[in-house]
Amino acid sequence: MYILVLNSGSSSLKYKLFEMPAKSVHYSGTLEEIDNHHDGVEVLLADLQQSKVIDSLDEIGVIGHRVVHGGWIFDSATVIDDHVIEEIEKLKKLAPLHNGANLEGIYAMKRKVPHIPQVAVFDTAFHQTIPKYSAYYPLSLTLSKEHHIQRYGFHGTSHHYVAIQAAKYTEKPLYKLNLITLHLGNGASACAIKEGKSIDTSMGFTPLEGLMMGSRSGDIDPSIIFYLERNGIDFEAVETILNHKSGLKAIAGTNDMRKVEALAKSGDKNAKLAIEMFVVRVKKYIGAYMVLLGRVDGIVFTGGIGEHSASIRALILEGFHHFEIVMDSVKNSIHSQIISSPSSKISLMVIPTDEELMIAKESYKLLQKH
Ligand code: ADP
Repeated sequence: MYILVLNSGSSSLKYKLFEMPAKSVHYSGTLEEIDNHHDGVEVLLADLQQSKVIDSLDEIGVIGHRVVHGGWIFDSATVIDDHVIEEIEKLKKLAPLHNGANLEGIYAMKRKVPHIPQVAVFDTAFHQTIPKYSAYYPLSLTLSKEHHIQRYGFHGTSHHYVAIQAAKYTEKPLYKLNLITLHLGNGASACAIKEGKSIDTSMGFTPLEGLMMGSRSGDIDPSIIFYLERNGIDFEAVETILNHKSGLKAIAGTNDMRKVEALAKSGDKNAKLAIEMFVVRVKKYIGAYMVLLGRVDGIVFTGGIGEHSASIRALILEGFHHFEIVMDSVKNSIHSQIISSPSSKISLMVIPTDEELMIAKESYKLLQKH
């Protein structure tokens, strides 16, 4: 059976066709700059048939959608029906761009292939286990409840996936494993995982909080926003600045860590500063999560930067020998799965994330129960 995984962005459609239960990728593609999701889905389905990837659309058992915001409503993946669609519509308020695009993908598939079951897998679901004392912001509870303000966390599918893989590498069951997972890509977040469950994460109410990112600021003093507004930069402009014109891009001139590293090597002072700023923020979250978890079995690096940049990993882990956490430079330079030395108290791992495979697995699991 085939499972089609769809990641609908505001102007793009990414898709992967998995063969299950083999978990192998049968086909994948990306449609960039689509006018609307209905046309995009039509092109995608035609592509699958014309390229003879499948003989008939009936071979697709289920369509798995990545849905960014499950808000306070969804704590796990779910089969999509009209009620679920209504609920995801409600959550559009929290993530207008993301959930809006995800919904368009769902609507388009519903129109084109109404007989194929659809599943929604939420980026926030894995973080639903974060205890209240970490999930709430120190704001009035009345205000928080009325406006649904809390830490939701994102990248959950990725943190969950690498945690499952880490359990295999360390040969420990996930429910006994304490981990710090670092998803370092264009978007970046850290997660504290206790006995297999997320207990804290750096992204909060939106994916803007936490680590310094490609073009997002991460943590800043919220007063900066009001101060800028009072100085003549309106809220919308500030929102654009914080989401699209900050982070690595603002400091080094590019959001591409490969370029930032190359610039730093050639002596560019701002690129060097950008790397130092990025690294120190990751270190702070690791430190906080080590204390929060008490016992840590492993630290996992994933995402474009986490998986591919040996030098950023080395900078993040610099000084960790004081805590008997020891990286093996050779293993790190060749991106081994385990990059810690045998003497290290904590396993250090590099685990490529695979959010699509995770969505395929969740969709397949739900289909079996359906
Ligand atoms: P997204 O969050 O958009 O899915 P990725 O997880 O693919 O992005 O991560 C993109 C980031 O990873 C970019 O900053 C890119 O420069 C960085 N990256 C990819 N390969 C390398 C590499 N070899 N060295 C340093 N950074 C890298």
